[in-house]
Amino acid sequence: MKVGMGFDIHKLVKGRRFILGGVPIQYPKGLLGHSDGDALIHALIDALLGALGMADIGELFPDSDGRFRGISSVVMLRQVMKEISRKGYRVQNVDTVIFAEAPKLGPYRQTIQKSLARVLHSRTSQINIKAKTMEGMGPIGQKKAVGAYCVLLLKRRGK
Ligand code: MG
Repeated sequence: MKVGMGFDIHKLVKGRRFILGGVPIQYPKGLLGHSDGDALIHALIDALLGALGMADIGELFPDSDGRFRGISSVVMLRQVMKEISRKGYRVQNVDTVIFAEAPKLGPYRQTIQKSLARVLHSRTSQINIKAKTMEGMGPIGQKKAVGAYCVLLLKRRGK
């Protein structure tokens, strides 16, 4: 078994679509980034890479590379999952915490769970999504950013 953890944070700005866990969220602002700014998937990718000692998302998908401009984070995650499979591992379970003062993410929890389970070749029962506010504190509390933590366990296939 291999454990991995990841964190990410993106600015919340006008004129962007809000995508989290590959799911479009209804909100007048969205996450700023070279890609679609999906902080949850970026934290997840870093946890996957971390578990297998494969550096980080910035090394694999540098924001200096025009090929990755506006790229869907689901596409990045699929690419990383291919690599995880190639190395003989599968996802055992994933636990996440999203930090967002707004919008309320409760109504999207199951949709995000299903979206991630599909890409991770897992059951929804293996993916846990939690959402918290920052009680009005700091940039997240002031609705200027959204962040996410992810911890996961990889298991060697056939064991
Ligand atoms: Mg990011």
